[in-house]
Amino acid sequence: MSLVQGLKCKECGREYPKEAVYVCEWCFGPLEVVYDYQRIAGRISRDVIMKRPQSLWRYRELLPLDGDPTDGLQSGFTPLVRADNLARVLGVRELWIKNDGVNFPTLSYKDRVVPVALSKAKELGFDTVGCASTGNLANSVSAHGAKAGLRRFIFIPYDLEVGKVVGSLIYQPNLVAVEGNYDDVNRLCSEIASKYRWAFVNVNMRPYYTEGAKTYGFEVAEQLGWRTPTSLVCPVAGGTILPKIRRAFQEFEQLELIPESRTRIFAAQAATCAPVVQAIHKGTDAVLPVKPRPLSESVDTSLRIGNPADGLYVVQAVQETGGWAEVATNEEIVSAIRLLAATEGIWTETAGGTTLAVTKKLIESGKLDPDGSTVVCITGNGLKTLEAVRDRIGSATTIAPTLRSFEERVLAHHLVPAATAAR
Ligand SMILES: *Cc1c(COP(=O)(O)O)cnc(C)c1O
Ligand SMILES: [Zn+2]
Repeated sequence: MSLVQGLKCKECGREYPKEAVYVCEWCFGPLEVVYDYQRIAGRISRDVIMKRPQSLWRYRELLPLDGDPTDGLQSGFTPLVRADNLARVLGVRELWIKNDGVNFPTLSYKDRVVPVALSKAKELGFDTVGCASTGNLANSVSAHGAKAGLRRFIFIPYDLEVGKVVGSLIYQPNLVAVEGNYDDVNRLCSEIASKYRWAFVNVNMRPYYTEGAKTYGFEVAEQLGWRTPTSLVCPVAGGTILPKIRRAFQEFEQLELIPESRTRIFAAQAATCAPVVQAIHKGTDAVLPVKPRPLSESVDTSLRIGNPADGLYVVQAVQETGGWAEVATNEEIVSAIRLLAATEGIWTETAGGTTLAVTKKLIESGKLDPDGSTVVCITGNGLKTLEAVRDRIGSATTIAPTLRSFEERVLAHHLVPAATAAR
């Protein structure tokens, strides 16, 4: 018998069968997966989990499949890195980077949610999958769908960074660039999903897809030694990952895998598109849609969603845990990308720059406890957003292929004492 009982409306509680449905017919609330925690408690323990392969499926009882996973068997379980150099610069005691910039195979946090959605789509008998994406999701569905042998229709806004476009096309999906912003793309995908029997991972498969994001939180808790941090700073686009990290901590607590979690959760968005941060600053949970600035004015495109599907739940998670939210300007995002690279040797994309820049602000304003432990959620890889930093990092020193040229043009600028040079 399955550990997954069905779907339930988050707002009115009406129950639905395990199908490709995502909104409540009665109140239009989002649907979420319901588990049988009592039976799950009898099946997993720290020991059971730790003996399994290092992938997101080591938490499989808390993921929404009835059968065995078929996709993403190498995805997840990314490094949690102790960041002492960066901690010294920021003036905090214990700092960790959870680095999904090296998630397999497309280098972002989307390599967690997509395997869950595609495995479920196959269970439900779909042969065609799709998504509405700001870039990373497009890469992930293109790649995982190729491996799974599924037909793929990938919808993106027309003005994405070349790294994210090439990073989809290489897997040969049907890539559709829509003349509009992400919110237009998403609306179109909802229409297509209601007409064709296709599995759109973040539309009609959304209840299953979002469950995959919990694995980021499970891993943080396990990798910290079965505890949760004092503070966690997380980027927000559609609003999936932040509340699901909280849900992960709650589930682990309920299953007695960790002690009580008191983690304060903080939200990060770019100043050019910050509907959730604005709501938190106003003290309301009504997230008013905004029109994102065009690419020419915004460095951060991964988070560029003006009308986030789960914005309300982000606000609630931040408010209920005693967290806060901030924005980062284009300038601050680029500086933070450079800071992380120069201190910890980790190159993140613009969403990661946004998150680190916001962390810095929260520390400076006293909102984040410098004496506790802090996890910064790095969710994507810098190789995909070259244009954000290309003109801000200097250039190589060109020399002739001679020792003399090296000494004149390079060493002369480094004030190396003669003794050291001769040794
Ligand atoms: C998708 C994405 C996020 C967060 O998206 P949510 O929809 O809020 O879960 C964060 N960082 C990167 C790099 C992403 O691609
Ligand atoms: Zn409902």
